[in-house]
Amino acid sequence: MSTAPIGVLGGTFDPIHYGHLRLGEELGEALRLDEVRLLPSGTPPHRSAPAASSEHRLAMTRLAAQGNPRFRVDEREIHRSGPGYMFDTLASLRAEIGPARAIVVLLGADAFLELATWHRWRELFGLAHIAVAHRPGFPIEGWADQMPQPLAREYSARLMQQLLSVHLSPAGGIVVIPLTALDISATALRETLRSGKSARYLLPAAVLDYIRSNGLYS
Ligand code: ATP
Repeated sequence: MSTAPIGVLGGTFDPIHYGHLRLGEELGEALRLDEVRLLPSGTPPHRSAPAASSEHRLAMTRLAAQGNPRFRVDEREIHRSGPGYMFDTLASLRAEIGPARAIVVLLGADAFLELATWHRWRELFGLAHIAVAHRPGFPIEGWADQMPQPLAREYSARLMQQLLSVHLSPAGGIVVIPLTALDISATALRETLRSGKSARYLLPAAVLDYIRSNGLYS
C-alpha cells in the first residue's frame, strides 16, 4: 500500500472547471501526491444552495476526473445531510487511513483567506497539511497582511519552504505553490451559460455536454 500523501480538493463544483482541475493536477505533481480526492460538497456551510443538485454535481465531477489516474472522486461530503465541514471530512478520512499517512488539503488563495471562518479551523492542522495555490485576483505577495490576525499567526508559524516536507509528517504544515493562472470561476461560468454564451474550453467537453443534455444553468 502506498504511503505517499493524499490530496483533498473540496469544492462546490457547480460546475467543476479547469481552474479546479489544474489545482489538483499541478499540486498533485508538485507535491508528489499519488492520489487527489475530489470531494463535491453537500450543503456548503458558507454559501447559499448550489444551482445544480448534488447528483448533477457528482456526475459532472466524475466526468471531469475520468482518465486521470491520480484523481479519485470521494462521495463522503455529498451524501452528508446538513452542513459538510472540512473538519468532519478530514476526521473521517484520517480514521480510514490511520495516523501515519499525510493528508494535504488543496486550496486556492481565496479559500485560504477564509480559513479562520471554518468550523474548528485550528484543529484542521492536527489532521492535515494545507497547500495554498495562487488564484487570479488574490495576490500572494505580502498577503499575510490581508489575513485576520489569528490566521496570520498560524500561517507564519506553519509555513514550510520545502514543498516535499509534506512527506515528512502527517499534518500541521502550510506550503504555498504557484499555479498556472486561470481566471475561471464557477459563478462566472454559470452566468456565461445562463446568457447563452460559449463556455467551451473553460471546462471539459464531457462536462459541458452533460450540462447541455440536462438543461443545467440555462
Ligand atoms: P465560485 O465562483 O462559485 O465561488 P469556484 O469556481 O471558486 O466557485 P469552488 O467550488 O468554490 O469553485 O472552489 C473550490 C476550490 O477550488 C477552492 O479552494 C478554490 O479556491 C479553488 N479554485 C476554484 N477556481 C480556481 C481557479 N480558477 N484557480 C485556482 N483555484 C481555484
